[in-house]
Amino acid sequence: MLDGKCVFCRIIKGEIPAVKVYDDDKMCVFKDVEPKAATHLLAVPKSHFKLLADMDGGQAETLKYMFEKIPAIAEANGCGNGYRLVINQGDDAGQTVFHLHVHILGGEKLGDM
Ligand code: AMP
Ligand code: ZN
Repeated sequence: MLDGKCVFCRIIKGEIPAVKVYDDDKMCVFKDVEPKAATHLLAVPKSHFKLLADMDGGQAETLKYMFEKIPAIAEANGCGNGYRLVINQGDDAGQTVFHLHVHILGGEKLGDM
């Protein structure tokens, strides 16, 4: 289920442009519009939910599927030497888009968090 007001749902539907590097029936991966590393991708499930805590069983299966796909997608996008995954959850983490997403950061030596 998609949410008409959610920016990532709108990217999934093609209503907002994004540079998609991977797309299938369960997930979409596109370039972050404000990259924080040489490679900065966002992996997004094609089902709208805000937090891991809100996830149902089908969405959990999709997240597992995403983690199985991410290594090859990262490697194909300049992260062959390593990468960092980040999932911000809620206000203290600075989450700004309330559709669960996995940041894929790499393409260069990353600083300490
Ligand atoms: P978070 O702070 O974890 O919620 O991350 C949201 C990310 O989405 C930020 O890194 C933004 O730069 C990125 N973002 C917001 N709008 C867009 C957009 N239209 N296309 C691509 N990335 C976006
Ligand atoms: Zn959404």
